[in-house]
Order: sequence, then structure tokens, then C-alpha cells
Amino acid sequence: KGVIHRICSGQVILDLSAAVKELVENSLDAGATSVEISLKEYGEQYIKVTDNGCGISPKNFQVLALKHHTSKISNFPDLQSLTTFGFRGEALSSLCALGSLSLETRTKNEPVGTHLTFDQSGIIKSERKIARQVGTTVTIENLFSTLPVRRKEFSRNIRREYGKLVSLLNAYALVAKGVRFVCTNTTGKNAKSVVLKTQGSSSLKDNIINTFGLNTFTCLEPLSLSVSEAITVEGFLSKPRQGTGRNLGDRQFFYVNGRPVDMPKVGKLVNELYKSSNSKQYPIVILNIIMPTQSYDVNVTPDKRKIFFSDECFLISSLREEIEKIYSPGQC
Ligand code: ADP
Ligand code: MG
Repeated sequence: KGVIHRICSGQVILDLSAAVKELVENSLDAGATSVEISLKEYGEQYIKVTDNGCGISPKNFQVLALKHHTSKISNFPDLQSLTTFGFRGEALSSLCALGSLSLETRTKNEPVGTHLTFDQSGIIKSERKIARQVGTTVTIENLFSTLPVRRKEFSRNIRREYGKLVSLLNAYALVAKGVRFVCTNTTGKNAKSVVLKTQGSSSLKDNIINTFGLNTFTCLEPLSLSVSEAITVEGFLSKPRQGTGRNLGDRQFFYVNGRPVDMPKVGKLVNELYKSSNSKQYPIVILNIIMPTQSYDVNVTPDKRKIFFSDECFLISSLREEIEKIYSPGQC
């Protein structure tokens, strides 16, 4: 039974960034305005996510890390109008099966916090009172140690995994309004290094300036498009024909209602149009599609990064028209 749980969990949490993504989303769902991620050895030794969100009430401790426990959905119609990142109650349970999970938490109703450790099936192993601020800290040590082959791959590719993680954190830091993000990494040889640090501004524009700098921001063109009565697209993309410089292909971020998602078709479209404006680089793209929750489905892959649109073709063709205007001024 334990083996099956491990295998299934390995499908929910595929890699380092999937693990951190789940923890960061839990912090955002808890209403945090500060999220701190600290890594030891690029996350190979531990990942620790600290937030100042609402905390977890003691009455939920027992069930917290059990499979399918969630506090975010209570009936089926909820599913169509969900605005939280989580709703399946799989993350903590999966993380328990993949490494050693412990957490500290305190709600505003508790005078002190609690430190909890869990076994692989999500059952509490130890519980003690601690002093701490309101909020939650989740630590996962030795991720994938229970899946030896995955662990080996993970260690072998740690720098690449780490790169993917940094890009993912940028995605959240850019889109989350009023949430401060800090990510640090500590390795044996080097002192703690700050990977990412943002103030949590109240607009996408300020978040971009915070994350990538003012120089980068001045190379961007705003985009604001209303695709239909219900669907709008807001964001920024590189102005056409910016100098030579470095390859910025890793600065492409797509969102649906502020949820980071993969949009290979939109990505391809922008790259193609940018290229035809004579540039050798990839453009920076940050696009948030705002649409009713009923018109897309995030339940396509366990990581909720892939989504189904009910009218993707129309969206793409509207975007094409708009971006062509930006990239080929004067042409008609
Ligand atoms: P889901 O996010 O799908 O509900 P998870 O397994 O990620 O499932 O989390 C289980 C439950 O634990 C959540 O529903 C929430 O009640 C609680 N929880 C997890 N992380 C936090 C956090 N950082 N702050 C407050 N509550 C949390
Ligand atoms: Mg969750």
C-alpha cells in the first residue's frame, strides 16, 4: 500500500519546482503577504517555505496531510468557480510520501504555535508547542528519497531543476499583487545567496520593475486587449527590434486569472511574430488572460499548468492580430 501511495505521489510532484509550487500556492491561498523560500543545496537537502498567512487550526492537524483532505472545497459546484490554487488536497499528502515533512503553524486564535512532523502516510509522528508568529512554515527534507531512481535523477540534474524553480518563482512574484517574495539558497561551499527578492508591489508593472529592473521594463510594450465581452488579455511584451543583448527566452510568463500556466501555442505565436520583426532574440512576454472560471479547465495535468480553453482558436487569432499591430507598425 505504501508503495502505491509513493508512486502516485511521484506523479503529483514530478520535480523540485512542482514541490515548491504546491507550497507557495498553499501560502498564497492562506492569504500570505510574505512568502519566503529557503533552499539547502538547491533544494536537494531541504526546501522550507515560510508564510504569514492565516495558519492552520489545531482541529485540522490530524487530517491535514491525509490524502484528499482539503479545506478549500466543500461541494461540487464550488469546482467551477474556484479561485484558490489548491482544491484536491494532494500536495501535503504526496510530499509526506516523497520525503520528510514537518511544519510549524499558528493561527491568530492560538497564543502559541505548534510544530508537527508526519510519517510517510501523513499521520502525525510528533507534536510540540513552539513560539512563532501567525503563519505557517513547511519543510520538506530529502525530497524523492523514497523513490531512489527519481532521487538519483534529481541529484544529477539539480542545477537544471533549480533553474526551472527560479523561473517558476519569478512567475508568482510577477503576478502576485502585494505579496513579498524572498528566495535564498545555501550550499556547503558558499554563504547564503539571495536568489530572488521582491517587495510585493500592487501592480504588474511595479512587480516587473522590481523583478527585472527598470531597464528591462523600458524595453517592454504594454498590451491590453479585449477578446470578447468576458475575456481580456493584459500584459507586456518586448518592443520590436531591441538591440542584440542576451537571450531572454526564459522570461516568458503566461497566466490565466493570475494562475501561472503553460501556453505553448501563445508562446510560439509571440516568438514567431517577434522573429518576423527581424530580431534574433526571444521576446520577453508576460500575459495574463482574464476570463470566467467556467471557460477553462485546469484539471488536465496534476500540476494544473496545462489548461483547456473552450475557445482557444479565437483567443489565439485575436492575440495574433493585436501582436501583429505591435510588431509591424506601418504595415497594413
Ligand atoms: P489543497 O491545497 O488542495 O487544499 P494541500 O495538500 O496542498 O491541499 O493542503 C491541505 C490543507 O492544508 C489545505 O487545504 C489547507 O487547509 C492546509 N494548508 C496547507 N498549507 C497551508 C498554509 N501554508 N497555510 C494555511 N493552511 C495550509
Ligand atoms: Mg495545495
